[in-house]
Amino acid sequence: MLNEFIHEPRIAYFSMEIALRNDIPTYSGGLGVLAGDTMRSATDLNLPMVAVSLVSRAGYFRQALDEQGRQTEQPAFWDPADHATPLGAKVSVTIEGRPVWVSAWLYILEGHMGGRQPVLLLDTDLDENSSEDRKITHTLYGGDKSYRFKQEIILGIGGMRLLQALGFEVRQHHMNEGHSALLGLELLKRFAYHPEDRRPGEPSYDIPLVRELCCFTTHTPVEAGHDRFSYDLVKSVLGDFIDLPTLKQLAGEDELNMTRLALNLSEYVNGVAKRHAEISRKMFPGYRVNAVTNGVHPYTWTHPGFAKLFDHHLSGWCHEPELLVRAECCISDEEVLNAHQLAKASLIDKIKTLTGATFDSNLPTFGFARRMTAYKRPDLLFSDLERLKRIAQKYPFQIVLAGKAHPHDEGGKQLIEMLHRHIHELDGIVNMTFLPGYNMEIARLMVAGVDVWLNTPLRPMEASGTSGMKAAFNGVPNLSILDGWWIEGCIEGVTGWSIGDSAESDNGADEQSLYHKLEHVVLPLYHNHQDKWVKVMKGAICKNASFFNTHRMMRRYVTEAYIH
Ligand SMILES: *Cc1c(COP(=O)(O)O)cnc(C)c1O
Repeated sequence: MLNEFIHEPRIAYFSMEIALRNDIPTYSGGLGVLAGDTMRSATDLNLPMVAVSLVSRAGYFRQALDEQGRQTEQPAFWDPADHATPLGAKVSVTIEGRPVWVSAWLYILEGHMGGRQPVLLLDTDLDENSSEDRKITHTLYGGDKSYRFKQEIILGIGGMRLLQALGFEVRQHHMNEGHSALLGLELLKRFAYHPEDRRPGEPSYDIPLVRELCCFTTHTPVEAGHDRFSYDLVKSVLGDFIDLPTLKQLAGEDELNMTRLALNLSEYVNGVAKRHAEISRKMFPGYRVNAVTNGVHPYTWTHPGFAKLFDHHLSGWCHEPELLVRAECCISDEEVLNAHQLAKASLIDKIKTLTGATFDSNLPTFGFARRMTAYKRPDLLFSDLERLKRIAQKYPFQIVLAGKAHPHDEGGKQLIEMLHRHIHELDGIVNMTFLPGYNMEIARLMVAGVDVWLNTPLRPMEASGTSGMKAAFNGVPNLSILDGWWIEGCIEGVTGWSIGDSAESDNGADEQSLYHKLEHVVLPLYHNHQDKWVKVMKGAICKNASFFNTHRMMRRYVTEAYIH
């Protein structure tokens, strides 16, 4: 079954989460969607890769919201047998002094252009394991520190051993975020010097060789995004897998810092946008941090109405999205507007089904959907409700929201409740709704069906952001804080609009700027100048979508990180 994949050396792409399809809940948000889009582009470009992730049988969680917007979480169980094939091989890793067995499911990612890529979903839910160990690969980002560390052992060490047992020859290891950094320790052990070949005081491992084999993408300036484990925990869970002085030298004196471990064992390191790379260089002085700005997978995020237009006018765009630079001149305004109305109608249908709310296809619609957490500031638009109401009386508009809060993020949950209070406070003046259960399907409908995609993070916390890029593929302009990818993507009035004058602006001035842009720029343009509005829609396609895609991103990873 694996024969078609093991005849040539591959790049192994390790990610804690991966969004393979909407009904496989092995992802929580941006990181997983990026992993999925990475592999989808690898499929279209026929790159020799293999993805390694966890099977997460209980998913991330299913979000339920009551009338007040109080979030409760249910497991999102799925049956891997519905989509993947069990592989015979089993390997063991030692956890807390006992062997824990790991097997994998083979999911084959099939591209719409005929490419195929193997994805290994690691599973400890095996008869050989204790009931506790069987749950290690159940819940994505669930449990306590010890649970997380065990998951990372399965991903990094278990994943490496399975690749080997299955016969994969790996030429490069790509760590998508630090969760998989323990793979570097497994590599070190494979390239340990024999004690007799070594004089006292000389290193025990061939670190330069391991570094040649690894590359690392860091994804967030948010402190909580960088896993740290106490050496007491490490000792009790991982035992003496590797000698402590070496581990401390690579992963930090006081705690095992997964980011530091990944940095020290990777020859190529990058952040996910230019600004994010700068921030990362400040966070981790002494490391060379490159910038490879994220993208999204063209075909996955383009509404069928627009895909049809692009197929007709810009044949080959799915393989070479750069062709979209010509969208401006070769697609008529009417065609763009018609395709957009189609996407808007699908969204309005979905809103009706999910919430019962009736949206008006003639009103400008703002979309905001992402993880609900404090630094994303989903409340910025509602800082001054009276002002928002006055604007709406002059220029009517409507708003659709969605997003999950991590089960332990109380602040994020309170933000969802606050948004629900605003829905009531704005009743009769601004039509507004919150769609439960944000996932790939809802994201697809929203990014294509709204008229403006809004993003209001606190600078410089948005490493990249990708949902705005999805919007661009559907001719939906962004109205966003200059942070992450938007610093590179925003051409004022051409691809969308900025909130705040520059990437250096004071976060405190954003509220005024947002209201000003709404009242004096965005809404008047929509209501009074349809011809100019369509020009901005086309600007988003030809100047943003042509560049901010994972095909371009993968071509850079190949030429800079994978082959050097
Ligand atoms: C694209 C996507 C995200 C990431 O969006 P950001 O703009 O980067 O926050 C999160 N969740 C889902 C379901 C997505 O499709």
